[in-house]
Amino acid sequence: MTQQTILTGQVLSFDRSPFEDPPKEAARLDEAVVLQGGHVAAVGTAAGLRAGFPHAKVVDHGRHVIMAGFVDAHVHYPQTAMIASWGKRLIDWLNTYTFPEEMKFADPAYAGEIAGRYLDLTAAHGTTTMCSFCTIHPASVDAIFAAAQARGQRVVAGKTCMDRNAPDGLRDTAQSAYDDSKALLKRWHGIDRLSYAITPRFSPTSTPDQLQALGALWSEHPDCLMQTHLSEQTDEIDWVRSLYPSARDYLDTYEAHGLLGRNGLYGHAIHLEPRERDRLREVGAALVHCPTSNTFIGSGLFDMAGLMAEGQRIGLATDTGGGSSFSMLRTMAAAYEIGQLRGTALHPAQLLWLATAGSAHALGMGSMIGNLAAGMEADLVVLDLCSTPAIAQRAERAGDIWEALFPTIMMGDDRAVAEVWIGGNRAVSR
Ligand SMILES: [Zn+2]
Repeated sequence: MTQQTILTGQVLSFDRSPFEDPPKEAARLDEAVVLQGGHVAAVGTAAGLRAGFPHAKVVDHGRHVIMAGFVDAHVHYPQTAMIASWGKRLIDWLNTYTFPEEMKFADPAYAGEIAGRYLDLTAAHGTTTMCSFCTIHPASVDAIFAAAQARGQRVVAGKTCMDRNAPDGLRDTAQSAYDDSKALLKRWHGIDRLSYAITPRFSPTSTPDQLQALGALWSEHPDCLMQTHLSEQTDEIDWVRSLYPSARDYLDTYEAHGLLGRNGLYGHAIHLEPRERDRLREVGAALVHCPTSNTFIGSGLFDMAGLMAEGQRIGLATDTGGGSSFSMLRTMAAAYEIGQLRGTALHPAQLLWLATAGSAHALGMGSMIGNLAAGMEADLVVLDLCSTPAIAQRAERAGDIWEALFPTIMMGDDRAVAEVWIGGNRAVSR
C-alpha cells in the first residue's frame, strides 16, 4: 500500500477567493491533512483522519500552520547570484548587472550550478513552484528543468528571447528564437511536472519579427503559457513608444503580434492605460505583481485593489533578482506595504491567497497546486509562527489566527519555514 502521512497542526486552505468574499469566510481551518502518493488524500479533523487512515504515519506540528507551498509566478533564476545589486533603474540595472551575469549561462555547468542553488534556496523559503525566465541559452532551460525533475517539482520555465538592444552574446534571432523555443517545448512541456512558457523578455529587446515568430509558436501550442514584462517603468514605456511608433500602447506591441491571450502572464503591469486594462480583462490574461522588485528598482505602485475590483487575474512574485528577496513572506509584506501606500490594507488571508492559490490560478494550475484539498498535489509549507523572539512575543498575544499569522508575514523569513513537502516528499526540515 502507498505510504500515507498525516500532518497535524493548523491546516489553512481556501474555499473561495478572499478578494471576492470576506477574507475570513473564504479561508478554512482544519486540524490535519493526509498525503498519499504525491497528492492530498483528505483534509479534516485530526481524530477523524487518524480513524480513517489508521496505518498512516503521523507528523504532529503542534500550533504550526500547514498550507499549500508558495507559488512564485515570475522569477529569473539566472539572476540568483546577482540579487540585491545596488543603485540602478531598470535599463541601467539590466546593462550593468543582469546581462553580464546572464552571459555566463553559455556554460551549461554554470547553469546547472545556479539552477540547483536557486531551487535549494527557494525550497528553504517555502516556495514549491515557480515560473522562471531563463537566458537566451537553451542549456539554461535544460538546467532548471533537469534540476526540477530530479526534485519532483512543478516548475514552469522558458528560454528568454532577445534579438536587439542586448549585448553581443545575448542575442538570438527571430528564427533561432522560434526554433530553439520549439525544440525546448517539445523536449520538456508536459514531462513529469514540467511546463514550457514561451518567453520574449519584453518588447524593447525583441524586433517585431521576433514577437511575430513567438506569437506564431504560441498559436501552434496554445496550451503553453507565454510570459513577458509589461509597463514596469515610465522611461521603459517611453522607450517602447519610440521603438513601436504605430502601437496604440505597450500591450499593443504584444497584441499585434499574437502575444495576448488567456495563457499570457504579464509581469509588473504597473502603469496601465485604460485600454490595456480592458483588453487584459477581456482575454482573461494574468498580471503578476512583483512588489519587492517594484520598490527596489523604483518602478511604481501596483493597483491591486483597483485591478482586483475590475476582475483581473493576479498572481504574486518575487521577480528574483530584480526583487530583493527569495522569500514569498517578504514579498507578501511588500505587497501589503504597497497596498497601504495606495490606501488599501490587504488582509493576511488575501496575502496568503495571492502567494498560493492566486499565483496558481495565474499559471492556470489552480486545480493542481496552490491549495489543500483532496486531489491537489502534495506541495506544502509548514510555518512556525514564533520563529524569532521578535515575532514570537507579538504572536503570543494574538487574538485569532490572522493576528498570529501577520507578524510572520511582515517579519518572517526562511527561519519561519519549519518544513516543506514537494510532491508528497519532505524536501526541507528544520
Ligand atoms: Zn522580471
